[in-house]
Amino acid sequence: MMKENEIRKCPAAELCGGCQLQGVPYPEQLRIKQEKVEKLLGNYGKVEPIHGMNFPYFYRNKVQISFGKDHKGRILMGNYVPSSHVIVPVASCQLASNCANEIFQTIGRLLKSFRLSVFDENSMEGFLRHVMVRSSHDEESVMVVLVTGSPIFPKKHDFIEALLKAHPNITTIVQNINSRRTSMILGERNIILHGKGYIEDELCGSVFRLSPHSFYQTNHKQTEYLYTKAISFAGLKKTDTVIDAYCGIGTIGLTMAEHVREVLGVEINKTAIKDAIKNAKINNCDNITFICDDAGKYMQKLAYDKKKIDVVIMDPPRSGSDEKFLSSLVKLGPERVVYISCNPVTQKRDLKYLTAKGYKVTKIQPVDMFPHTEHVESIALLERKR
Ligand code: SAH
Repeated sequence: MMKENEIRKCPAAELCGGCQLQGVPYPEQLRIKQEKVEKLLGNYGKVEPIHGMNFPYFYRNKVQISFGKDHKGRILMGNYVPSSHVIVPVASCQLASNCANEIFQTIGRLLKSFRLSVFDENSMEGFLRHVMVRSSHDEESVMVVLVTGSPIFPKKHDFIEALLKAHPNITTIVQNINSRRTSMILGERNIILHGKGYIEDELCGSVFRLSPHSFYQTNHKQTEYLYTKAISFAGLKKTDTVIDAYCGIGTIGLTMAEHVREVLGVEINKTAIKDAIKNAKINNCDNITFICDDAGKYMQKLAYDKKKIDVVIMDPPRSGSDEKFLSSLVKLGPERVVYISCNPVTQKRDLKYLTAKGYKVTKIQPVDMFPHTEHVESIALLERKR
């Protein structure tokens, strides 16, 4: 493993869109993010100092790399330049888990020795399109997903054997078929080639099952901080009924469940809800219910039924929440709302709505979930005015 003083600026930084703040010293990055949050949310209350990482490298537990050819027909592996069809070669990504970087190198080598082709986006022909590596935080469980243009896998058994021999820590290998003209990495179909087809990871004391398609926060250490902070903001009581809105695979709700009477998790994505239900079972949690619905519609239903809700935790996508959700939230009138956001611009818009309708912001905590990128996460606690 590399140490901080051995890390040099990534040679792909200028072209690869992954790290917008590559080369900016980390304390400076934190200052930029702090200022961004203060500028947007500072009017609502004091912004606590951003929680950064001690070692802000190699933190991503899900990493993907794409394959293609240069104009001379040589194999390239790296990331697509944003909104283009050009691949920037990335030899070793400073955000990727160490195991992912090593596995990508091996796969590049095996492609050559097995004379396997790479997928060509123009002719829509060829074999390997992308590789995704997903690992548990201790890297004890590792999933490799080989994304191919068709189900045909020449020299499959020997390839798998060679890959496992080079990386005995790989616990499962999945082939994912993506034959469409799309910028999405994964197609729909998975074929398990080795192991169980999923890995499990522990987060805040619960265990989560992760398949190739599962949404899961990519920075384990910072997520534990984020969730713990959100839960402490929520001031949970054993008698509380809590909503985990935009719940994904149920990570926040499951982490909170033991502290409260009942949790209701709502999420629009069917696959995520299936994962969430499975996760509740794995963790023997029986006071949580997951609902697959638009969060706004579900809140409207609860408001219509005059359901008593004590706390709402919401973690919407970058676009933020919407009027349907927020107006129903106000009707439900929970004592506390914990708003986790990956986009302070839409968070500001939504805080403006809620503070005009009977809530006040009492805490704001920024968290650096994605060092070297421009993204910043922030948690706001809102309390109902008496
Ligand atoms: N809280 C989860 C997921 C947050 S990401 C975690 O920490 O892992 C935001 C989630 O909101 C995604 O899973 C997305 O599918 C979901 N989502 C987006 N629009 C939604 C809507 N209108 N209603 C419900 N869920 C929605």
